[in-house]
Amino acid sequence: MNDIKELSINRVACSKCMGCVEMCPEIFAWNEHDEEIVLRRQCVTQNEVSEAMALCPRDCIELSDPSADSPCLLPDPTND
Ligand code: SF4
Repeated sequence: MNDIKELSINRVACSKCMGCVEMCPEIFAWNEHDEEIVLRRQCVTQNEVSEAMALCPRDCIELSDPSADSPCLLPDPTND
């Protein structure tokens, strides 16, 4: 379960409850200017966000396999 996935938020469904920010501040943040949840990182493992996904009352934290041109597929420069 350590495959890299692409993370997104369904902003239409999001209630802005801040649960994900409190649970996982290294990945989710609150953008004051746009008044919405933003992602600090778009490429994550399922383990990193599983608790936030379970807690989200609107089921709007989504994971998908990286698309062909996704930055998530670039090799990790620290992993030579
Ligand atoms: S937990 Fe879900 S509904 Fe709440 S702010 Fe995060 S994404 Fe939005």
